[in-house]
Amino acid sequence: MIVDLRSDTVTKPSAEMLDAMFCAKTGDDVFGEDPTVNELQQFVAEYFGMEAALFCTSGTQTNQIAINVHVRPGGEVICHEESHIYKYEGGGIAKNSGASVRLLQGDRGRITKNQIEKWINPEHDVHFPITQLISIEDTSNRGGGAIYNFEEIKRISSFSKDKNIPLHLDGARLMNALVETKIDPKEYANQFDSISLCLSKGLGAPIGSVLIGNKDFIKKAHRVRKVLGGGMRQAGIIAAAGIYALKNNVERLTIDHNHAQLLSNTLTNLSWIKEIIAVETNIVVAILRDEAKRDLIIQNLSSMGIKTIAFGPGMIRFVTHLDISSDQIGYTIEKLRTF
Ligand SMILES: *Cc1c(COP(=O)(O)O)cnc(C)c1O
Repeated sequence: MIVDLRSDTVTKPSAEMLDAMFCAKTGDDVFGEDPTVNELQQFVAEYFGMEAALFCTSGTQTNQIAINVHVRPGGEVICHEESHIYKYEGGGIAKNSGASVRLLQGDRGRITKNQIEKWINPEHDVHFPITQLISIEDTSNRGGGAIYNFEEIKRISSFSKDKNIPLHLDGARLMNALVETKIDPKEYANQFDSISLCLSKGLGAPIGSVLIGNKDFIKKAHRVRKVLGGGMRQAGIIAAAGIYALKNNVERLTIDHNHAQLLSNTLTNLSWIKEIIAVETNIVVAILRDEAKRDLIIQNLSSMGIKTIAFGPGMIRFVTHLDISSDQIGYTIEKLRTF
């Protein structure tokens, strides 16, 4: 048996999803004529009670477009030091937008309003880059799938409005957070100026992310997407997978969360594990007793069919997703117990 727990991006489109893709009506989306892309964008905008949305190729692209629209060269973005926009997007903030970053530390990938407040640069002092964007990540990947406290998000949001600095959400795994907290998507989205939502993570679509914001923002984003080479033609065939995912694969994320909890319960008791970071959604991060054994452990797990991924020194990540069944979790638990 192969149990691929490396990432929630490894899911393959199901037969039903492929059927939806096969039947999708298409047109040239650069001309705005793809009915399925338009349907997806409208569906997402309405779902979050925002004015507009834009279908993009990846979460990196939606984040980078948002940054490019919000920030001018020489401006500064505030984010957590381990945030995806900084750590895993190939230096895109500097390369695409010519902006600098102010990196904050914080519990499990999360930052607070009080911290942000301290690091807003004084606009009238010419020494400092002007703070032009605050970006947070929910759930936080490096934080092991940690969910933001909604009260903290509201504090950050009202602060950003006071200061007239836009607030962006990297919501690659936003749906994982929302099914757990049961917060109304509209009330949640209302706190942000822009949101990036991945369809290709827990939702199980093969490709695509959606950028969400007001009409003016999305109009500007449209131009940036084209410049970055993200203008697609008959993209309805992949947008159809996104619509299918949003209509069928959101509620079931709780199954992934239960599976992650089960894995965590087993891992906690193993002698070679020092600590398991408390599971909040679909990510389990194991901290090993012997840091040097990480790669050997990953290799040995892999030889039993259990695929995991290195997650920094002495850390291994397990991610549950749509293509992991209860049987596969059972198999993994059984193998781990005797490992
Ligand atoms: C996966 C991910 C993204 C987007 O990654 P792509 O591979 O470009 O789709 C963005 N932010 C976070 C937190 C992610 O986990």
